[in-house]
Amino acid sequence: MPQKPTEKEEEYIARMEYERLKKIEEEKHKKLADDEKKKLKELHFMRCPKCGMDLIAVDYKGIEVDKCSDCEGIWLDAGELEAVSKLEKSGLDKLFSVFSQK
Ligand SMILES: [Zn+2]
Repeated sequence: MPQKPTEKEEEYIARMEYERLKKIEEEKHKKLADDEKKKLKELHFMRCPKCGMDLIAVDYKGIEVDKCSDCEGIWLDAGELEAVSKLEKSGLDKLFSVFSQK
C-alpha cells in the first residue's frame, strides 16, 4: 500500500513543480526576446536609422562608410570613426568626393 506523502513532501513536490514550470516560462521569454531581436535586426539591417531608407555601403581604404540613399546621412560602424579621424586631410577629401554628386 503506497504511503500518503507528508505535508512537507507535498510542499516540496509543489515547489519543485513550480520551479520546473517557471524555468520553462523563463526560457520562453528568452526565446521571445531573441526572436524579437532577430526580427528587429532583419527589419533595420542596412537601413538608415533616421529615415529608414536603404543605406549604400562604400568601401574606402578599408573603411566601410554607409550613406543613406534618401536623407544623405553618413553612418559608421564600430571603430570606423576612429579610422576616419586618422585619415590625412587629402584622404578625407577623397572620401567625401566619393559621395559628392558630379
Ligand atoms: Zn536616411
